[in-house]
Amino acid sequence: MVKVSGPLKPGTKVSTTAPKPKRVSFESTLTDMRALAVATVAQARQNGTMTGARVVAAGIKEAYDGALAILEKEVPAGEPLACAAGCTHCCHLPVVTDAITVMAVADKVKSWPKAARKKLMDRLRERERKRGSMSETARRHHRAPCPMLVDGKCSVYEERPLICRSFNSFDAKRCERHFLGGGHPEGIDVYRIPYMVGEVFTEGATEGFEKAGLNPKDVSLDFAKALLIVLEAEDPAERFFDGEAMFEPARTTVKTEEIL
Ligand code: SF4
Repeated sequence: MVKVSGPLKPGTKVSTTAPKPKRVSFESTLTDMRALAVATVAQARQNGTMTGARVVAAGIKEAYDGALAILEKEVPAGEPLACAAGCTHCCHLPVVTDAITVMAVADKVKSWPKAARKKLMDRLRERERKRGSMSETARRHHRAPCPMLVDGKCSVYEERPLICRSFNSFDAKRCERHFLGGGHPEGIDVYRIPYMVGEVFTEGATEGFEKAGLNPKDVSLDFAKALLIVLEAEDPAERFFDGEAMFEPARTTVKTEEIL
């Protein structure tokens, strides 16, 4: 259960006394974000390389930050967020993300020293070994450190999936009890706005995949499994952008809300 703080829907009335020389509406910011997602998928498809995917992903991050800055003014969190470097409770949940983000992360990993890459491959394979025989339900509730965690920090912080950027909390203790301690009666208390921007982007990415002739099922992938597929594959970007269903084993119908 996720208890949401702040208004949920675009268009929620927000009172403000501060004069605004130029008002950018809540709705138009989200609409722009969605359109941008559609366009960036087309851009990545046209480029067709992992490095291109990383450039596109960096653009998405910038646009995400820009949209968030606008929306945070409209609907402020109202109290400090608890999220901080070194807090990794939510990094024990399975991450669902899209194929372009996976390739962007893989491109980053390819620049790592050989020893670090080998350790990551070991962690990814070990995770698959443990989860391979689990049911979909068991995988959904499986809690383990994300393979990208190194010394308690995200090793691909700049390239991390949008859901990792979007998720935040007002109370780290509640996250710990809810995610790692078998639940908390009140669930977790999140600031809804970043999460909403992530959701809108995912909707746009789904539309973008369809328009670009890619399979929209590749918007919902088990991140770690999909990353392992890319890192083990020959010419993954070429094959993916040519329409090969290489991510089929990593596709999931599990929604993030069901994981939480
Ligand atoms: S990718 Fe990074 S931020 Fe996301 S769950 Fe893994 S370690 Fe945490």
